Amino acid sequence: MGPKRILVKNQGNVAKKPKLSGHWSLGLLDAMKDPECVVKEDDTVVVIKDKYPKAEFHYLIAPKEDISSLKKVDKTHIDLLEHMQELAETIVNDNQHKDKSFRMGYHAEASMVRLHLHVISNDMNSNALKTKKHWNSFTTDFFLDSKEVCKQLKEEGTVTLPSAETCKKLLDTPLKCHKCEYIPKHMPDLKKHIMTHVQ
Ligand code: AMP
Ligand code: ZN
Repeated sequence: MGPKRILVKNQGNVAKKPKLSGHWSLGLLDAMKDPECVVKEDDTVVVIKDKYPKAEFHYLIAPKEDISSLKKVDKTHIDLLEHMQELAETIVNDNQHKDKSFRMGYHAEASMVRLHLHVISNDMNSNALKTKKHWNSFTTDFFLDSKEVCKQLKEEGTVTLPSAETCKKLLDTPLKCHKCEYIPKHMPDLKKHIMTHVQ
């Protein structure tokens, strides 16, 4: 059976798409207002804990300005993206995190609304990391390094994103350990293997 379509009919009996409010893809907007989720904030950005962390430490830095995604970023946002990068560096260098290795970057195609910078520890050891797509979204070129994004924005005035077709291929890349040459047979094998890199 195919997916169910929810159609709301208006009085003229013309089918309308349901409104997006309350949709899962808007969850970050609620989290940004929830004191339980917010780790830090200033005039321009909010840092929240990722609700489904894909590593021991996983934060998201999102602007208060209504920027839906990287696709909407232009040269007027250089200062903002540099500020997000600087804040990420402050977080990874604080006492709680300074002994761990972190990566900071954007997904080439985000699933959640509101631009967000992932700040993620490089252990990739988490129960919430379940699928090949999860793995590849952080360990292939689908993950766009924040410094590179800032550099490109400054030098070229725009961020060039991989095509939808390239994104699909990146997410479908055969599994490989992010720390060594090990080629796992499947996700459970990979998850067992990465424990050999976790102290
Ligand atoms: P992206 O694929 O870049 O859009 O990543 C979205 C991130 O948001 C993922 O790492 C999710 O685990 C995380 N996430 C999803 N829903 C929520 C939520 N309600 N609060 C906080 N983080 C969330
Ligand atoms: Zn390895």
